[in-house]
Amino acid sequence: MKVHNFSAGPSILPDVTVENTAAAIKNFAGTTLSLMEVSHRSKEFVAVMDEAIALFKELLDIPAGYSVMFVGGGASTQFCMVPYNLMAKKSAYLNTGTWANKAMKEAKLFGEVVEVASSKETIYNYIPKGYEIPADADYFHITTNNTIYGTEIKHDMDVNVPLVADMSSDIFSRPVDVSKYALIYGGAQKNLAPAGVTFVIVKDELLGKMDRQIPTMLNYQTHIDGESMFNTPPVVPVFAALQTLRWIKEQGGVSAMQKMNEDKAAVLYDEIDSNPMFKGTVINKEDRSLMNICFIMTDEYKELEKEFYEFATAKGMSGIKGHRSVGGFRASTYNALPKASVQALVDCMKEFATIHV
Ligand code: PMP
Repeated sequence: MKVHNFSAGPSILPDVTVENTAAAIKNFAGTTLSLMEVSHRSKEFVAVMDEAIALFKELLDIPAGYSVMFVGGGASTQFCMVPYNLMAKKSAYLNTGTWANKAMKEAKLFGEVVEVASSKETIYNYIPKGYEIPADADYFHITTNNTIYGTEIKHDMDVNVPLVADMSSDIFSRPVDVSKYALIYGGAQKNLAPAGVTFVIVKDELLGKMDRQIPTMLNYQTHIDGESMFNTPPVVPVFAALQTLRWIKEQGGVSAMQKMNEDKAAVLYDEIDSNPMFKGTVINKEDRSLMNICFIMTDEYKELEKEFYEFATAKGMSGIKGHRSVGGFRASTYNALPKASVQALVDCMKEFATIHV
């Protein structure tokens, strides 16, 4: 039996994604060849790419006037592609953690970057509010889910400039009003596929406006025109993404994902809030992530942290250690994590308390 996979990423995928991809790696679409050894321009793989892009658009209800592309380089390459393609002189960023900082660092190569607000002083345990975005910024960048700190912006903002979002760790976890965004990007290795493919949704009318030369591979238009096949795409991750997208659709789409994620998170946050041995690191309930649930031992039981980790690990909990920069625990509850896994972790926490409290 598999252990309960709470890994923050790469992370749990639906069983059907793993099974179908494993089968295709042996014999892809009846070709008798492995998915890894056929041309990406074969009719069988072109059909995979076409269906993946179409389902991506369907499930997020992406309006006309937007393009969806799959590219390489991870979300980290998007930190530079976004300003390369959209920033003439000035951009604004909300500093909600490590990934936002890495994104800002790249944008600074292209001009002035305004940090509109930051929660750094309290180790990013809340989402700043009540800030002003300069009206002359070319875009405003947010990280909707902060994988390391367990905070999440769970609604679509109305802002005065084009909105860009890193949705690496919460894409497909809830319905998104894409019309409110200029661009959405993310690495696939949480809710979608193995690492290796990156998704980008962009409003077409925003492209082609920069005076600068953009290197071919870093220009969004290249990948739109090339239908995500300008260069050889990561075929295995794209195939796996298609299996996950079909699974999401079968489960009832992103609204069904949201409901399941809210149910799972409520069970775990309730235990964190009521068990005397544990406390959440994100106090403000509206800022609490439904994807990465971070908690620590209360002061009285602090010295039992290592013991709880070993206790839970022995009971089959995997990947619950907090990020090395914050410590404590982090249980990632992505779309594919069954509620039974959350219940198993909660049972561990209850049992540990009956021994020690
Ligand atoms: N943004 C967020 C929110 C992330 O969680 C991560 C990776 N964990 C990244 C960006 C970086 O993604 P990649 O490794 O695909 O470059």
